[in-house]
Amino acid sequence: MVGYIHSYQTLGTVDGPGVRFVLFMQGCFLRCPYCHNPDTWEIKKEKQVTDDEVLEKIKRYLSYYKDGGVTISGGEPLLQSSFVYSLFKKLKENHLHTALDTSGTILNEDVKKVLSVTDLVLLDIKFSFNEKYQKYIHQSLDTVLHFLDYLEKNNIKTIIRQVIVPTINNHKEDIIALKEIINQYTCIQKVELLPFKKLCVEKYEQLKIPFPFEIYPEESDEDIKSLYSYLE
Ligand code: SF4
Repeated sequence: MVGYIHSYQTLGTVDGPGVRFVLFMQGCFLRCPYCHNPDTWEIKKEKQVTDDEVLEKIKRYLSYYKDGGVTISGGEPLLQSSFVYSLFKKLKENHLHTALDTSGTILNEDVKKVLSVTDLVLLDIKFSFNEKYQKYIHQSLDTVLHFLDYLEKNNIKTIIRQVIVPTINNHKEDIIALKEIINQYTCIQKVELLPFKKLCVEKYEQLKIPFPFEIYPEESDEDIKSLYSYLE
């Protein structure tokens, strides 16, 4: 099974529990205005690999992943569901924990197969209000909530993540609305508020495309800390 990947990280510590192998897939159609990885958008731009080649790489560092595992991120990994399913299935046969980092905007039979071999989903709820989701992501928040319903129904452990951008979604009401969503789901184990940063500016310059959120300031750790209090 062949997939298009952007890159991989052998000792990741921020995309799921423990130390993890993190595979970044190519391809995403969303164009989030704060996207850190615009270089992953085009699906066939980077390296082509087989699931067995990735598995071999993972096996080289196996002792590190005892309490962690493997995370597939992107881009949007569910654009290459067959590849992700094949790799996750082999990882499960090797008793490795599997995590999927996704925007939750695609749910079809192939995606359901991926979820059948996924231990943990890192799900982006990019904005807590549909108006903002529509305005900035050009999709409906309901699509993501429908995805979350499926995770709930199938008892798939979930971590919710939201990038917090000053003046856009760093208000008390955004976090309260997020809390109201979260309270409806028992599959959600944790919520992570991620501060908006602009380390990706250079990538946009290299790609010669505008960075839509360049005008916004970076989010501070203090602000994030105080926003967490609204989730309690
Ligand atoms: S879903 Fe992720 S990879 Fe795709 S545009 Fe949004 S932030 Fe970027």
